[in-house]
Amino acid sequence: MVLVRGIDWSTGQGNLEFGDDSSAQFSYLDLRNARVGFRVLDERKWCLGYFVFDDGGRFWTVPCKTNENVAKGRSCSRCAGLDESTFLHNAHLGRSTPLNVRTYLSQPHWLYIATFANGESKVGTVSDERKTTRLQEQGAVIARFVARTSDGLHVRELEDQVSAALCIRQSMGSNRKALSWLSALPFNQIDGLNRAMSATVSDFLLTSIDSRAVLAKETWRTTPDAFFTQTLPLERFAYPREITVGAHVLDVVAVKGQSALCSVLDRQLKRHQYIVNLAPLAGRKVEPGLFSVEYEDVPMTLF
Ligand SMILES: [Zn+2]
Repeated sequence: MVLVRGIDWSTGQGNLEFGDDSSAQFSYLDLRNARVGFRVLDERKWCLGYFVFDDGGRFWTVPCKTNENVAKGRSCSRCAGLDESTFLHNAHLGRSTPLNVRTYLSQPHWLYIATFANGESKVGTVSDERKTTRLQEQGAVIARFVARTSDGLHVRELEDQVSAALCIRQSMGSNRKALSWLSALPFNQIDGLNRAMSATVSDFLLTSIDSRAVLAKETWRTTPDAFFTQTLPLERFAYPREITVGAHVLDVVAVKGQSALCSVLDRQLKRHQYIVNLAPLAGRKVEPGLFSVEYEDVPMTLF
């Protein structure tokens, strides 16, 4: 039995991160071209601990000491109270912030516009150190860095301003992102939409930034892998099962953020391609193994 912690992108590729109840030692499974089989033990969700920062501006996870169940979110109430990452989101609003978090925030940050497979965009912020990892975690297709700030407080002020003035969302849920692959636009079209929105944001920033930020013009693009090349979006379907219930055997073709492009065999031994949102597996206890699973013959869209 293992506790799934989520999809980790710290090595530049999507790995399934898991551990046991209490150890801080986590294991990683490279999802690329992997056959992933498991059975979700039950409907309970377990605490994934909390983040702490050191005085060098780095952060890591501390597992839950008491192995609690959680009703929603990723942490029990004790761990949520100890989670220093919560300070990141409202430090710029004047809330008192621990010294180590302030050290993390004192490094240069970037403001970016990320666009997803269906052309929807969001504005976001990222520290210099996690510049590309963050975009990979999010499953963005194209992103443009539009400003670089001297610290992580001011970048969040800019994010709020851009979001309010231009009505650009700051977050996008994992299910919405997975769903976006079912109506994916051609790569060039996504690039065009991102370029246009980034230009609008740059124009807005031109009139509002001060000495704490400089305009930037850098583009990041995801690898044009099987998500773009292997099959037309019309031939893909949403995974027909609840990923947090029962047994699953997935042949993973490629991963973007928390979304996996998988192929499975149906009862007629015909292959179908599905988009699977892996995010809900975080906090679930599963038994690894290639269990017998019968998939329906006709793919269905059940997002
Ligand atoms: Zn906990």
